Amino acid sequence: MQGNIKVKRNILLNPGPATTTDTVKMAQVVPDICPREKEFASMMKAMREDLVRIVHGDLNRYTSVLFCGSGTINIDICLNSLLPEGKKVLIVNNGAYSSRAAEICAYYGLPFIDLKFPVDELPDLDKIEEILKENPDIALVHTTHHETGTGILNPVREIGALAHRYGAVFTVDTTSTYAMRPIDIERDNIDFCMASAQKGLMAMTGLSFIVGNTELIQRSADYPKRSYYCNLYLQYHFFETTGEMHFTPPVQTIYAARQALDEYFAEGEETKWQRHLDVFEAIHAGLDQLGFQDIIRRELQAGLVVSVKYPDDPNWDFEKVHDYCYERGFTIYPGKVSAQNTFRLCALGAITAKDIEEFFAVLEEALRAHDIQIPVRYDK
Ligand SMILES: *Cc1c(COP(=O)(O)O)cnc(C)c1O
Repeated sequence: MQGNIKVKRNILLNPGPATTTDTVKMAQVVPDICPREKEFASMMKAMREDLVRIVHGDLNRYTSVLFCGSGTINIDICLNSLLPEGKKVLIVNNGAYSSRAAEICAYYGLPFIDLKFPVDELPDLDKIEEILKENPDIALVHTTHHETGTGILNPVREIGALAHRYGAVFTVDTTSTYAMRPIDIERDNIDFCMASAQKGLMAMTGLSFIVGNTELIQRSADYPKRSYYCNLYLQYHFFETTGEMHFTPPVQTIYAARQALDEYFAEGEETKWQRHLDVFEAIHAGLDQLGFQDIIRRELQAGLVVSVKYPDDPNWDFEKVHDYCYERGFTIYPGKVSAQNTFRLCALGAITAKDIEEFFAVLEEALRAHDIQIPVRYDK
Protein backbone atom coordinates (compact mmCIF):
# COMPACT_ATOMS: atom_id res chain seq x y z
CA MET A 1 0.00 0.00 0.00
CA GLN A 2 2.75 2.43 0.91
CA GLY A 3 4.64 1.20 -2.19
CA ASN A 4 7.28 3.23 -3.88
CA ILE A 5 5.46 6.48 -4.47
CA LYS A 6 8.06 9.22 -4.67
CA VAL A 7 6.98 12.58 -3.27
CA LYS A 8 9.09 15.65 -3.95
CA ARG A 9 10.63 16.94 -0.73
CA ASN A 10 10.03 20.65 -0.19
CA ILE A 11 11.76 22.56 2.56
CA LEU A 12 9.12 24.76 4.16
CA LEU A 13 10.65 27.69 6.01
CA ASN A 14 7.22 29.31 6.46
CA PRO A 15 5.58 29.31 9.92
CA GLY A 16 3.57 26.11 9.36
CA PRO A 17 2.44 23.85 7.91
CA ALA A 18 5.87 22.27 8.22
CA THR A 19 7.88 19.80 6.15
CA THR A 20 6.74 16.25 6.98
CA THR A 21 8.41 12.88 6.64
CA ASP A 22 7.31 10.55 3.86
CA THR A 23 6.17 8.02 6.46
CA VAL A 24 3.76 10.60 7.90
CA LYS A 25 2.50 11.53 4.43
CA MET A 26 1.92 7.88 3.55
CA ALA A 27 0.19 7.11 6.86
CA GLN A 28 -2.86 8.87 5.41
CA VAL A 29 -3.29 6.14 2.83
CA VAL A 30 -5.40 3.63 4.74
CA PRO A 31 -8.38 1.42 4.02
CA ASP A 32 -11.62 3.43 4.23
CA ILE A 33 -13.07 3.29 7.73
CA CYS A 34 -16.08 4.74 9.49
CA PRO A 35 -14.71 6.77 12.42
CA ARG A 36 -17.49 5.44 14.67
CA GLU A 37 -15.72 2.04 14.71
CA LYS A 38 -14.10 0.96 18.01
CA GLU A 39 -10.76 0.63 16.27
CA PHE A 40 -10.77 4.34 15.48
CA ALA A 41 -11.94 5.37 18.98
CA SER A 42 -9.16 3.37 20.61
CA MET A 43 -6.60 5.08 18.39
CA MET A 44 -7.94 8.49 19.47
CA LYS A 45 -7.89 7.50 23.15
CA ALA A 46 -4.18 6.66 22.97
CA MET A 47 -3.55 9.81 20.99
CA ARG A 48 -5.27 12.00 23.59
CA GLU A 49 -3.00 10.53 26.27
CA ASP A 50 0.13 10.97 24.18
CA LEU A 51 -0.73 14.62 23.59
CA VAL A 52 -0.81 15.13 27.37
CA ARG A 53 2.51 13.24 27.74
CA ILE A 54 4.25 15.65 25.37
CA VAL A 55 3.80 18.44 27.94
CA HIS A 56 4.50 16.08 30.86
CA GLY A 57 0.96 16.32 32.23
CA ASP A 58 -0.20 13.86 34.89
CA LEU A 59 -2.98 11.86 33.21
CA ASN A 60 -4.96 11.87 36.44
CA ARG A 61 -5.26 15.63 36.27
CA TYR A 62 -4.76 16.67 32.67
CA THR A 63 -6.58 15.65 29.52
CA SER A 64 -6.64 16.59 25.88
CA VAL A 65 -9.54 17.30 23.57
CA LEU A 66 -9.33 17.02 19.79
CA PHE A 67 -11.05 19.27 17.29
CA CYS A 68 -11.31 19.40 13.53
CA GLY A 69 -9.94 22.75 12.41
CA SER A 70 -6.80 24.86 12.14
CA GLY A 71 -4.99 26.16 15.23
CA THR A 72 -7.13 29.25 15.62
CA ILE A 73 -10.07 27.06 16.60
CA ASN A 74 -8.29 26.31 19.90
CA ILE A 75 -8.03 29.98 20.86
CA ASP A 76 -11.70 30.44 19.97
CA ILE A 77 -12.72 27.42 22.06
CA CYS A 78 -10.66 28.25 25.15
CA LEU A 79 -11.85 31.84 25.32
CA ASN A 80 -15.52 31.22 24.65
CA SER A 81 -15.78 28.11 26.86
CA LEU A 82 -13.72 28.92 29.95
CA LEU A 83 -15.11 32.28 31.01
CA PRO A 84 -17.76 32.22 33.78
CA GLU A 85 -20.73 34.59 33.62
CA GLY A 86 -19.94 38.17 34.61
CA LYS A 87 -16.15 37.71 34.46
CA LYS A 88 -13.46 39.24 32.32
CA VAL A 89 -10.54 38.08 30.13
CA LEU A 90 -7.09 39.65 30.26
CA ILE A 91 -5.05 39.30 27.06
CA VAL A 92 -1.32 39.83 27.53
CA ASN A 93 -0.58 41.04 24.03
CA ASN A 94 2.75 41.62 22.31
CA GLY A 95 1.99 40.27 18.88
CA ALA A 96 -0.40 39.24 16.14
CA TYR A 97 -1.58 35.98 17.71
CA SER A 98 -2.59 37.63 20.98
CA SER A 99 -4.32 40.32 18.93
CA ARG A 100 -6.25 37.48 17.29
CA ALA A 101 -7.35 36.34 20.77
CA ALA A 102 -8.53 39.88 21.52
CA GLU A 103 -10.52 39.86 18.28
CA ILE A 104 -12.14 36.58 19.26
CA CYS A 105 -13.23 38.11 22.59
CA ALA A 106 -14.69 41.05 20.67
CA TYR A 107 -16.59 38.72 18.29
CA TYR A 108 -18.17 36.86 21.21
CA GLY A 109 -18.87 40.08 23.09
CA LEU A 110 -16.79 38.85 26.05
CA PRO A 111 -15.61 41.53 28.49
CA PHE A 112 -11.85 41.76 28.03
CA ILE A 113 -8.80 43.91 28.61
CA ASP A 114 -6.32 43.98 25.74
CA LEU A 115 -3.08 44.77 27.56
CA LYS A 116 -0.69 45.74 24.76
CA PHE A 117 3.08 45.79 24.83
CA PRO A 118 5.55 46.58 22.02
CA VAL A 119 5.91 43.61 19.64
CA ASP A 120 9.68 43.51 20.04
CA GLU A 121 9.68 43.50 23.84
CA LEU A 122 8.61 41.19 26.64
CA PRO A 123 5.42 42.02 28.54
CA ASP A 124 5.98 43.99 31.73
CA LEU A 125 5.09 41.72 34.66
CA ASP A 126 4.53 44.63 37.06
CA LYS A 127 1.98 46.11 34.69
CA ILE A 128 0.20 42.75 34.44
CA GLU A 129 0.05 42.49 38.21
CA GLU A 130 -1.28 46.02 38.51
CA ILE A 131 -4.14 45.20 36.09
CA LEU A 132 -4.94 41.96 37.93
CA LYS A 133 -5.04 43.84 41.23
CA GLU A 134 -7.32 46.56 39.85
CA ASN A 135 -9.68 44.07 38.18
CA PRO A 136 -10.66 41.28 40.57
CA ASP A 137 -13.25 40.15 38.00
CA ILE A 138 -10.54 38.83 35.66
CA ALA A 139 -11.15 35.06 35.57
CA LEU A 140 -9.02 34.15 32.55
CA VAL A 141 -5.57 35.33 31.47
CA HIS A 142 -4.48 34.47 27.94
CA THR A 143 -1.19 34.94 26.13
CA THR A 144 0.93 33.50 23.33
CA HIS A 145 4.00 31.46 24.23
CA HIS A 146 5.90 32.25 21.07
CA GLU A 147 4.65 35.02 18.79
CA THR A 148 5.24 33.33 15.47
CA GLY A 149 5.14 36.62 13.54
CA THR A 150 8.23 37.98 15.27
CA GLY A 151 9.87 34.98 16.95
CA ILE A 152 9.73 36.39 20.49
CA LEU A 153 9.38 33.98 23.45
CA ASN A 154 7.12 35.11 26.28
CA PRO A 155 7.72 34.34 29.99
CA VAL A 156 4.66 32.13 30.46
CA ARG A 157 5.76 30.63 33.77
CA GLU A 158 5.93 34.10 35.35
CA ILE A 159 2.68 35.31 33.76
CA GLY A 160 0.98 32.07 34.85
CA ALA A 161 2.19 32.52 38.43
CA LEU A 162 0.60 35.99 38.48
CA ALA A 163 -2.66 34.71 36.97
CA HIS A 164 -2.86 32.02 39.63
CA ARG A 165 -1.97 34.40 42.45
CA TYR A 166 -5.04 36.45 41.49
CA GLY A 167 -7.30 33.44 41.04
CA ALA A 168 -7.46 33.38 37.24
CA VAL A 169 -7.21 30.46 34.81
CA PHE A 170 -4.22 30.70 32.46
CA THR A 171 -4.60 29.71 28.81
CA VAL A 172 -1.57 29.81 26.54
CA ASP A 173 -1.40 29.63 22.77
CA THR A 174 1.50 27.21 22.40
CA THR A 175 0.76 26.43 18.74
CA SER A 176 4.28 27.30 17.63
CA THR A 177 6.22 25.74 20.52
CA TYR A 178 4.30 22.56 21.41
CA ALA A 179 6.31 19.41 20.56
CA MET A 180 9.33 21.55 19.74
CA ARG A 181 10.46 23.65 22.69
CA PRO A 182 9.97 21.53 25.83
CA ILE A 183 6.94 22.49 27.93
CA ASP A 184 6.02 21.23 31.39
CA ILE A 185 2.37 22.17 31.74
CA GLU A 186 2.32 22.14 35.54
CA ARG A 187 5.69 23.72 36.26
CA ASP A 188 5.05 26.35 33.59
CA ASN A 189 1.84 27.30 35.44
CA ILE A 190 -0.28 26.60 32.35
CA ASP A 191 -3.88 25.46 32.78
CA PHE A 192 -4.55 25.06 29.06
CA CYS A 193 -2.18 24.91 26.15
CA MET A 194 -2.96 24.16 22.54
CA ALA A 195 -1.54 23.28 19.14
CA SER A 196 -2.41 21.90 15.76
CA ALA A 197 -0.93 18.82 14.15
CA GLN A 198 0.88 20.58 11.29
CA LYS A 199 3.42 22.48 13.38
CA GLY A 200 5.52 20.85 16.10
CA LEU A 201 4.12 17.39 15.50
CA MET A 202 5.10 17.59 11.83
CA ALA A 203 1.81 16.07 10.70
CA MET A 204 -1.05 17.25 8.50
CA THR A 205 -3.40 20.23 8.73
CA GLY A 206 -6.95 19.86 9.98
CA LEU A 207 -6.46 18.46 13.49
CA SER A 208 -6.11 20.72 16.53
CA PHE A 209 -6.07 19.94 20.22
CA ILE A 210 -6.26 21.57 23.62
CA VAL A 211 -4.36 20.04 26.54
CA GLY A 212 -5.50 21.14 29.95
CA ASN A 213 -6.71 20.74 33.47
CA THR A 214 -9.57 18.21 33.63
CA GLU A 215 -11.17 19.67 36.73
CA LEU A 216 -11.35 23.12 35.15
CA ILE A 217 -13.07 21.64 32.09
CA GLN A 218 -15.57 19.89 34.33
CA ARG A 219 -16.16 23.11 36.23
CA SER A 220 -16.95 24.88 32.94
CA ALA A 221 -19.94 22.58 32.32
CA ASP A 222 -22.38 25.24 33.46
CA TYR A 223 -20.57 28.32 32.14
CA PRO A 224 -22.47 30.22 29.45
CA LYS A 225 -22.64 28.31 26.15
CA ARG A 226 -21.46 30.75 23.51
CA SER A 227 -20.83 28.36 20.64
CA TYR A 228 -22.27 25.02 19.62
CA TYR A 229 -19.49 23.59 17.47
CA CYS A 230 -16.69 25.15 19.49
CA ASN A 231 -17.52 24.32 23.10
CA LEU A 232 -14.76 22.68 25.13
CA TYR A 233 -16.92 20.93 27.70
CA LEU A 234 -19.30 19.52 25.09
CA GLN A 235 -16.48 17.97 23.08
CA TYR A 236 -14.71 16.71 26.22
CA HIS A 237 -17.89 15.14 27.54
CA PHE A 238 -18.59 13.46 24.22
CA PHE A 239 -15.08 11.98 24.15
CA GLU A 240 -15.36 10.77 27.73
CA THR A 241 -18.73 9.12 27.25
CA THR A 242 -18.39 7.73 23.71
CA GLY A 243 -14.67 7.83 22.87
CA GLU A 244 -15.53 9.76 19.74
CA MET A 245 -15.44 13.27 18.41
CA HIS A 246 -18.84 14.90 18.56
CA PHE A 247 -18.84 15.47 14.79
CA THR A 248 -16.93 13.85 11.92
CA PRO A 249 -13.20 13.77 12.65
CA PRO A 250 -10.54 14.41 9.98
CA VAL A 251 -9.93 10.67 9.61
CA GLN A 252 -6.83 10.52 7.41
CA THR A 253 -5.25 13.49 9.19
CA ILE A 254 -5.61 11.56 12.45
CA TYR A 255 -3.81 8.52 10.98
CA ALA A 256 -0.98 10.83 9.96
CA ALA A 257 -0.89 12.38 13.44
CA ARG A 258 -0.69 8.89 14.98
CA GLN A 259 2.38 8.16 12.87
CA ALA A 260 3.84 11.59 13.70
CA LEU A 261 3.42 10.93 17.43
CA ASP A 262 5.29 7.65 17.08
CA GLU A 263 8.07 9.49 15.28
CA TYR A 264 8.04 12.24 17.93
CA PHE A 265 8.61 9.76 20.77
CA ALA A 266 11.19 7.84 18.72
CA GLU A 267 13.20 11.01 18.07
CA GLY A 268 12.80 12.11 21.69
CA GLU A 269 11.99 15.49 23.20
CA GLU A 270 15.55 16.63 23.78
CA THR A 271 16.98 15.37 20.50
CA LYS A 272 14.17 16.98 18.57
CA TRP A 273 14.55 20.30 20.37
CA GLN A 274 18.29 20.21 19.72
CA ARG A 275 17.62 19.58 16.02
CA HIS A 276 15.33 22.63 15.87
CA LEU A 277 18.01 24.69 17.65
CA ASP A 278 20.66 23.49 15.18
CA VAL A 279 18.42 24.58 12.31
CA PHE A 280 17.84 27.93 14.04
CA GLU A 281 21.60 28.44 14.49
CA ALA A 282 22.18 27.56 10.85
CA ILE A 283 19.56 30.14 9.84
CA HIS A 284 21.36 32.80 11.88
CA ALA A 285 24.75 31.82 10.48
CA GLY A 286 23.44 32.09 6.91
CA LEU A 287 21.74 35.42 7.54
CA ASP A 288 24.84 36.86 9.22
CA GLN A 289 26.97 35.84 6.29
CA LEU A 290 24.73 37.71 3.85
CA GLY A 291 24.37 40.71 6.18
CA PHE A 292 20.64 40.37 6.93
CA GLN A 293 19.22 41.95 10.12
CA ASP A 294 16.59 40.49 12.51
CA ILE A 295 13.65 42.33 14.05
CA ILE A 296 13.90 40.83 17.54
CA ARG A 297 16.95 40.91 19.80
CA ARG A 298 18.51 37.44 19.65
CA GLU A 299 18.33 36.80 23.37
CA LEU A 300 14.52 37.18 23.20
CA GLN A 301 14.02 34.73 20.33
CA ALA A 302 12.38 31.37 21.04
CA GLY A 303 14.81 29.43 18.85
CA LEU A 304 12.23 28.64 16.17
CA VAL A 305 11.49 31.65 13.97
CA VAL A 306 13.69 34.43 12.65
CA SER A 307 11.92 37.53 11.37
CA VAL A 308 14.22 39.33 8.93
CA LYS A 309 14.08 42.97 7.76
CA TYR A 310 13.81 43.60 4.04
CA PRO A 311 17.07 45.15 2.79
CA ASP A 312 16.95 48.73 1.49
CA ASP A 313 18.52 47.74 -1.85
CA PRO A 314 16.41 49.19 -4.69
CA ASN A 315 16.67 45.81 -6.48
CA TRP A 316 15.21 43.91 -3.50
CA ASP A 317 11.93 42.32 -4.55
CA PHE A 318 10.59 39.73 -2.13
CA GLU A 319 8.34 38.08 -4.71
CA LYS A 320 11.20 37.51 -7.12
CA VAL A 321 13.49 36.12 -4.43
CA HIS A 322 10.65 33.96 -3.13
CA ASP A 323 9.89 32.59 -6.60
CA TYR A 324 13.55 31.81 -7.29
CA CYS A 325 13.79 29.82 -4.03
CA TYR A 326 10.35 28.23 -4.43
CA GLU A 327 11.22 26.85 -7.87
CA ARG A 328 14.18 25.16 -6.21
CA GLY A 329 12.16 23.62 -3.37
CA PHE A 330 12.50 26.22 -0.59
CA THR A 331 9.56 28.27 0.70
CA ILE A 332 10.07 31.59 2.50
CA TYR A 333 7.26 33.72 3.90
CA PRO A 334 6.59 37.46 3.95
CA GLY A 335 5.11 39.40 6.85
CA LYS A 336 4.79 42.80 8.38
CA VAL A 337 5.94 43.65 11.88
CA SER A 338 4.45 47.05 12.76
CA ALA A 339 5.36 49.15 9.72
CA GLN A 340 8.46 47.10 8.87
CA ASN A 341 8.37 44.69 5.93
CA THR A 342 9.90 41.36 6.86
CA PHE A 343 10.23 37.77 5.78
CA ARG A 344 10.47 34.74 8.01
CA LEU A 345 12.69 31.72 8.18
CA CYS A 346 11.37 29.05 10.52
CA ALA A 347 13.04 26.07 12.16
CA LEU A 348 9.85 23.98 12.25
CA GLY A 349 9.36 20.63 10.58
CA ALA A 350 11.36 17.60 9.51
CA ILE A 351 14.43 19.50 8.35
CA THR A 352 18.08 19.70 9.39
CA ALA A 353 20.92 22.23 9.44
CA LYS A 354 22.14 20.75 6.15
CA ASP A 355 18.87 21.74 4.46
CA ILE A 356 19.46 25.29 5.69
CA GLU A 357 22.97 25.36 4.22
CA GLU A 358 21.50 24.27 0.89
CA PHE A 359 18.84 26.94 1.20
CA PHE A 360 21.40 29.69 1.74
CA ALA A 361 23.34 28.62 -1.34
CA VAL A 362 20.09 29.08 -3.31
CA LEU A 363 19.24 32.37 -1.58
CA GLU A 364 22.67 33.73 -2.41
CA GLU A 365 22.18 32.74 -6.07
CA ALA A 366 18.78 34.47 -6.00
CA LEU A 367 20.36 37.70 -4.71
CA ARG A 368 23.05 37.56 -7.40
CA ALA A 369 20.53 36.75 -10.12
CA HIS A 370 18.59 39.90 -9.23
CA ASP A 371 21.60 42.19 -8.73
CA ILE A 372 20.98 42.61 -5.03
CA GLN A 373 24.12 43.75 -3.25
CA ILE A 374 25.90 41.26 -0.91
CA PRO A 375 26.23 41.86 1.99
CA VAL A 376 22.71 43.23 1.78
CA ARG A 377 22.31 46.95 2.25
CA TYR A 378 20.49 48.76 5.04
CA ASP A 379 20.40 52.55 5.01
CA LYS A 380 20.04 52.91 8.77
C1 LIG B 1 -0.01 28.87 13.48
C2 LIG B 1 -0.48 29.51 14.70
C3 LIG B 1 -1.84 29.51 15.05
C4 LIG B 1 -2.90 28.90 14.18
O1 LIG B 1 -3.09 29.53 12.98
P1 LIG B 1 -4.02 28.86 11.87
O2 LIG B 1 -3.91 29.79 10.71
O3 LIG B 1 -5.40 28.77 12.42
O4 LIG B 1 -3.44 27.51 11.59
C5 LIG B 1 -2.19 30.05 16.27
N1 LIG B 1 -1.28 30.58 17.09
C6 LIG B 1 0.03 30.61 16.80
C7 LIG B 1 0.98 31.19 17.78
C8 LIG B 1 0.48 30.08 15.59
O5 LIG B 1 1.79 30.08 15.30
